[in-house]
Amino acid sequence: MAQKDKAKREDMEDLIYCEYCKAETPHRHLYNAAYGLSQTYMTGSERFECSKCKNTIHYGDNPKLDSKFVLETEARK
Ligand SMILES: [Zn+2]
Repeated sequence: MAQKDKAKREDMEDLIYCEYCKAETPHRHLYNAAYGLSQTYMTGSERFECSKCKNTIHYGDNPKLDSKFVLETEARK
């Protein structure tokens, strides 16, 4: 039913384990656009924010999650 792997969007929420909530919680996919341009991406700004405790996870914080960082992965190529 859910086609989560197809074309991720920045407003999608992903279920990720939050070490502070000790549970899987919806995380917002966030990043900063360069100069406010919607099609750009500021390297290093991609992050996931826990919708409950607002903890943010950056690329490299949890190697198991690195594959979710589609923009960062692309920027590092
Ligand atoms: Zn949390």
